[in-house]
Amino acid sequence: MAKPARRLKVLYVTSEATPFAKTGGLADVAGALPRALREHDVDVRVVMPLYAGFDWNALQKLEGTVRVPMWWGVARAGLRLGHLPRSDVPVYFLEYHRYFDRPFLYGPPGDGYQDNLERFTFLSRGALEACKALNWIPDVIHANDWQTALVPVYVNTVEWTKPLHGAATVFSIHNMAYQGVADGNAMFVTGLGREHYNSSEFEHFGTLNLMKAALRHATLLSTVSPTYAQEIQAPGFGHGLDGVLRERGGDLLGILNGIDTDEWNPATDPYLPAAFSAEDLSGKAACKAALQQEAGLRVDPTIPLFGVVGRLTSQKGFDILANCLERILSWDVQVVLLGTGDREAEHFFWWLSSVRRDRFRSWIGFDNGLAHRIEAGADFFVMPSRFEPCGLNQMYSLRYGTLPIVRATGGLADTVHSYQPESGEGTGFAFHDLTPDALANTVGWAASTWYQRPDHIQAMRQRAMAEDFSWRHESESYLQLYLDAYRRRRGHLPEGYRPSTAAASPVPPSVAQRRSRARKR
Ligand code: ADP
Repeated sequence: MAKPARRLKVLYVTSEATPFAKTGGLADVAGALPRALREHDVDVRVVMPLYAGFDWNALQKLEGTVRVPMWWGVARAGLRLGHLPRSDVPVYFLEYHRYFDRPFLYGPPGDGYQDNLERFTFLSRGALEACKALNWIPDVIHANDWQTALVPVYVNTVEWTKPLHGAATVFSIHNMAYQGVADGNAMFVTGLGREHYNSSEFEHFGTLNLMKAALRHATLLSTVSPTYAQEIQAPGFGHGLDGVLRERGGDLLGILNGIDTDEWNPATDPYLPAAFSAEDLSGKAACKAALQQEAGLRVDPTIPLFGVVGRLTSQKGFDILANCLERILSWDVQVVLLGTGDREAEHFFWWLSSVRRDRFRSWIGFDNGLAHRIEAGADFFVMPSRFEPCGLNQMYSLRYGTLPIVRATGGLADTVHSYQPESGEGTGFAFHDLTPDALANTVGWAASTWYQRPDHIQAMRQRAMAEDFSWRHESESYLQLYLDAYRRRRGHLPEGYRPSTAAASPVPPSVAQRRSRARKR
């Protein structure tokens, strides 16, 4: 008789997840992907730190403590249980005030806390200890970015001979620019022996590099778009780890991020003054008028309004924008910008906002509601990224009928089809050269299309809004990746596991095979 089917058990370890704690795209992914995996009947559970800044009382305090071995002794952490909104996905919060009850997740803007290595060592080790304390042994452990990079290493080392050692590990790169680098002498903080400080694991040009160790230890690797998966295997985009990534190129899959289509839905978005859809865009016109008003700009439907939202860092190409914004503002356009980050950039955009009140408004800060209103009210959305692992804002823009103007890199290249003036095809405007001229020319191209080919703009809007960026497809790719990883680790699928969807076919194609089939949208 066939054994009863059982669900695949996946532990998702993350340093941030919407709506609990967010500094960037990882939070959005961590808040949405596990919910989509539940649709495939995966028993997925999230572990993250309990940060300051949200209502802890809404969480259930679990009995007992989790004992987390640290270099200085054993940390006794509390465990609280919550759920991702609109789902039954459990989120376990590791409660340890000394490390996480602070005003920022990683440190003040532009700076990291001195003890970040220790804090995220605690998260990585604590996530594994929490599983054991809960007596829940996952089949696959999915770690994300440098903050959880020690997870695959611990599974291969300190968990040796313990139940978690059977788990396959998947390590996802959301951004190669942040690798968790520390002084080589800090190796002791990880609790691992000095013998691991070698060039095949943690040592990288005389420093301790957490991401390098994860890239070596994880069963399989993924990153957040097919183009970025290729780019990071080349010098420059790999930020010094391209060699390691090339070595493991056959184990690296690019899976495009999805977006939370409930949270980002112009028909139901509670942050907007008016709802709209592809069928009825009158609400979008109302959103534009309201945004112009909020920005103190002339309320005029005929002027093209360009929106910008993002971290003000060099990654996002804000220096390029700063170098051509005054030229752009000499045309008949309006620009609104919301961002926080580098002091110099913050100061420049704030200053320009005060001298060009007629056409430009900046808000320096982090404001989720305003980000939604900009996505909805703008006609175009500008993303001149130097590199962009996936990028979410351009997908929000497309869904809100706001045409993205992007540098063709990473996920931007995978999601935005550049305008074809002859046929009117496309969903946005793309450029290649990372120069103020190229950006200004592309903004100018969009503005002239707005004035001269409104029919094309309308058609592009409709096309953009019809695209499907939900997690439906991509969560299937993750499920296959998990099964691949498990099979790689154990030589077979989990005992008693019955795939419940076509995607979870018992003989999933190899990562390399699927990489060549990666969808281009
Ligand atoms: P990254 O993760 O590199 O910052 P993404 O485009 O993947 O970039 O995700 C950024 C997310 O953070 C988006 O949801 C975006 O709306 C949000 N965001 C960035 N800056 C701000 C801000 N200043 N205020 C509100 N939301 C912001």
